[in-house]
Amino acid sequence: MAANPVHGAQFRSLIEIIRHHSERRPDKTSFVFLEDGESESSALTFGQLEQRVRAVAAQLQEMGATDQRALLLYPPGLDFIIAFLGCVYARVTAVPAYPPRNNQNLTRLRTVIEDAGAKWVLTTSSLVSNLGTQFEHVPELSTLRWLATDDVPVERRDAWKEPVVGPDTLAFLQYTSGSTGAPKGVMVSHGNVLHNERIIELSFGHTERTVFAGWLPLFHDMGLIGNVLQPLYLGVQSALMPPAAFIQKPARWLHMISRYRATTSGGPNFAYELCARKVSAEQRVGLDLSSWEVAFNGAEPVRPGTLQRFADAFKDHGLRVTALHPCYGMAETTLLVSGKVPAQHPSLFPIQADALEEGRVVPVEGDAAASANGARVLVSSGSSLLEKVRIVDPASLKECPEDRVGEVWVSSASVAQGYWNKPELTREAFQARIADTGEGPFLRTGDLAFRRGEEFVITGRLKDVIIIRGRNHYPQDIEQTVEECHPALKASGGAAFSVEVEDEERLVIVQEVERSYLRDLDVGEVVGSIRQAVSEHHELQVHAVVLLKTSSIPKTSSGKIQRHACRNGFLRKSLSAVGEWVENLQTEA
Ligand code: ATP
Ligand code: MG
Repeated sequence: MAANPVHGAQFRSLIEIIRHHSERRPDKTSFVFLEDGESESSALTFGQLEQRVRAVAAQLQEMGATDQRALLLYPPGLDFIIAFLGCVYARVTAVPAYPPRNNQNLTRLRTVIEDAGAKWVLTTSSLVSNLGTQFEHVPELSTLRWLATDDVPVERRDAWKEPVVGPDTLAFLQYTSGSTGAPKGVMVSHGNVLHNERIIELSFGHTERTVFAGWLPLFHDMGLIGNVLQPLYLGVQSALMPPAAFIQKPARWLHMISRYRATTSGGPNFAYELCARKVSAEQRVGLDLSSWEVAFNGAEPVRPGTLQRFADAFKDHGLRVTALHPCYGMAETTLLVSGKVPAQHPSLFPIQADALEEGRVVPVEGDAAASANGARVLVSSGSSLLEKVRIVDPASLKECPEDRVGEVWVSSASVAQGYWNKPELTREAFQARIADTGEGPFLRTGDLAFRRGEEFVITGRLKDVIIIRGRNHYPQDIEQTVEECHPALKASGGAAFSVEVEDEERLVIVQEVERSYLRDLDVGEVVGSIRQAVSEHHELQVHAVVLLKTSSIPKTSSGKIQRHACRNGFLRKSLSAVGEWVENLQTEA
């Protein structure tokens, strides 16, 4: 392993680390940005970046923003990174968000602004008037003070005064994705960031030869801590493109890796699925993925089928199966909790489906395991370098034995300071203790998992588990069965949840339809396939099916399905249905 460029130095804040690299490697490229996903539209060396950051920080200091919260509303790009670090350099608490495109976004944004108590909005000069007009009609937002950071002249840098910042200083508020409810503002300190960046470095096997490439949204934890702050921490290059450029044409991501000889690049499982399905043979021409060492896959359940399809699709283009890198983490732990050991094969765990429904872990042995009936194959999210990770029974709050599923509890210097302005929720989530031993405090992650030796296998989210007649069903398993049962159904476009009908929990499926099937959709046939597949694979009766317009299912800005929002939409009949079926009664919208 090449010598780590930050090794041996003791850093107390993000400011120290950025200064370190800008002094030692001022002319090295830090970020390049490909606006259209194909050609370079902007780039910054470490030296240039730091100059721009100082200038923005000096401006913020002069305006009196120190120790206040500033909302960051940027299109994807390097201006966001400069503004974020400008806040860090001025000891302003950054609140990364994104410009609202519709009323729903605006509502979410209002919640965040109010929750964070933000006084400032940082954005670009081209967005400032546009957003200002949108906000004028919202009384509580019209008092916000605005700064277009790309207008700040770089000469302002000399006015910057280094603030007192240490490991305990709050660095920023990371709002969670909002998969299970309203997003919460996680308080991340400088110490948290430095600790987790070190963990990511060690866990992913990063060195000074590491090269990043990616398209993840920069205002979410995986994009910010992973694609922005990890390369800054290491002092290496990162090539970035807007999420939309990737979604429009997934091949752009792979060509970016190929072109920059990236070693680390990743995203949630759906991104790999999209590539396996949508990148045509023609688009694969010239792809060389042999530089790729860490294809991290996290933020969502990792599907064994996706790993297989992706590996098969690109093995002739230099992709190594050992690069596939399942990992697990969340905003509350800054980012990373666990990950695969680099250069090894991802590990799969076939276990008995029936036992899993009772929270027991019974391995299915032998070669036929993967295809054996009644087996569920789960992907290991690897081992953890954090100080303490435990699996705890969420009811008794006692540690689970290895053969039981329980909640993941974490105690580490990477665990954030709590939820901004939410003392009650903070106490519940961040200050848990193990019942019989009193050990703690731990973070309760809300995720279910079991342990196999050093490895953690995530089974699902506590809040999303569907309990029908005493058995636990994981919605993602049912969703997978549904999307695979009929070609009209869109991948990663469904949600399974339960509603109470006559004192009993009943299963509801909502699922998007592929665009090309919308016109001549045979609702009866599709519903029939869904009911049969769910009954066959899960021994469950479906109570209702709602088929949705393409791309209309409620999702977070990070692309995760919001099951609770689907459930609300179902109950209020506000989903964009193109076909609907409820037990014994069929209507077509
Ligand atoms: P909210 O907390 O607002 O409902 P969120 O939990 O989706 O949203 P994030 O912090 O962005 O917000 O995501 C972290 C969550 O993503 C984890 O708690 C876990 O549920 C899920 N996750 C992350 N990695 C994995 C993985 N490898 N397998 C399964 N789930 C994962
Ligand atoms: Mg969460």
